[in-house]
Amino acid sequence: MSERKRVLITGAAGFLGSHLCDRFIKEDYHVIGMDNLITGDLRNIEHLFKLENFEFYNHDVSKFVHVPGELDYILHFASPASPIDYLKIPIQTLKVGSLGTHNLLGLARAKNARMLIASTSEIYGDPTVNPQPEEYWGNVNTVGPRGVYDEAKRFQESITMAYHTFHGLETRIIRIFNTYGPRMRLNDGRVLPAFIGQALRGEPLTMFGDGSQTRSFCYVDDLIEGIYRLLLSDYAQPMNIGNPDEITIREFGEEIIKLTGTDQKMISLPLPTDDPKQRRPDITKARSILGWEPKVGRAEGLKITYDYFRSLPEHEIKHKDF
Ligand code: NAD
Ligand code: UDP
Repeated sequence: MSERKRVLITGAAGFLGSHLCDRFIKEDYHVIGMDNLITGDLRNIEHLFKLENFEFYNHDVSKFVHVPGELDYILHFASPASPIDYLKIPIQTLKVGSLGTHNLLGLARAKNARMLIASTSEIYGDPTVNPQPEEYWGNVNTVGPRGVYDEAKRFQESITMAYHTFHGLETRIIRIFNTYGPRMRLNDGRVLPAFIGQALRGEPLTMFGDGSQTRSFCYVDDLIEGIYRLLLSDYAQPMNIGNPDEITIREFGEEIIKLTGTDQKMISLPLPTDDPKQRRPDITKARSILGWEPKVGRAEGLKITYDYFRSLPEHEIKHKDF
C-alpha cells in the first residue's frame, strides 16, 4: 500500500477545490476529489485524471458519504459560494452546509481523520466592526435572502466545534474572505468575473448601489497557502484568511476598466438586500500563529486573472446564463 497521506477534498471541481487538489498533488498526497458538479466544472481537474494518486467521485455530500480506505484529512469545500448560485439553489446550500458537514464529520470520526471546513467572512453578515477579528459574533439576518448561506456556514462552524469538543475530533475552521483567480466561472455573478466579463463583451460594468461598499480581495495562491498551513497547524479555533487591502466597489470597477484597457462606463443597479457595507479581515492571528500573510498584490493578481479570462473560448465569454 502507498505511503502517501490520503486527503478527501469536497467541492473538488470548483474554483478553490480544484486549486487545493493541485496543491495536495504537488505535496505528493493521494487526493480523492468529490463533487456533484452543481456549480463546478470537471475541466478544472481534468489534468489530474491521468495521475495514479488522484481519484474522483461524482457524489452529493448531503447524502451519506462513503470512501473506501484510510483518510488522514478531509477538506470540506463543497457549497455554492456566489450569491447568484446560492439564491438559485437555497435549499441545497442549506443542506450541504448542514447535512453535508454532518456526514463528513461522521466520516472523519470513522476514519480518525482531521477535518477542515471552509467557512466564510459571510458569517459576520453586515459587520458593525471593521476590520473583523475572529472574536466578532456577526450581524446576520437569518431570514434574509443571504441567510441560507450565512446560517448554513454558521451551523457548519457550530457542529464542527461540537465534534471537536464532544468527540475530540481534530478540526480546523477557516473563515475565507473574498478570493479570486483563474477557474472562477465568468458567469458566477461575483463582482470580479462580472466586471471582467462585461469589459470583455464591451458592456457597461454593473455596479450595485453607489459602489461605496467595500471588499478586500485575496489572490487564490495566497489563500491556498493559508489553508495548507492551518490544516497542518494545531489551531482548532476559527481563523480568518484574506487580504486586508480594502477597496470600494466603485474603485474596483475603475481598476478593472484600466486593466482591460476598455472605455466602458459603470452603471448603478439596485443594491441587493443585506449586501454587507464593509468587509476587511483582521489577520493578526494568521500572522502570529501561522506566520502567514498575503504575498500577491491586487495589480499582479488581477493581471493573471484577466489573462485567464481572456484566454477562454469566445463563445464562453459571450455566453451569459444568469
Ligand atoms: P465553487 O462554486 O467554484 O465550488 C464549489 C464546489 O462545490 C462546486 O464544484 C460544486 O459543484 C460543489 N458542490 C456544491 N454542492 C455540493 C454537494 N452537495 N455535493 C458535492 N459537491 C457540491 O465555489 P468556491 O469559490 O470554490 O468555494 C468553495 C468553498 O469555499 C465553498 O464552501 C465556499 O463557501 C467557500 N468560500 C469561498 C470564498 C471565495 O471567495 N471563493 C469565500 C468564502 C468561502
Ligand atoms: N457587485 C456589484 N456588481 C456586480 C456584482 C457584485 O457591484 O455585478 C457588488 C456586490 O453588491 C457586493 C460586492 O460587489 O457589494 C461583492 O459582491 P460578490 O458577489 O462578489 O461577493 P460578496 O457580496 O459575497 O462579498
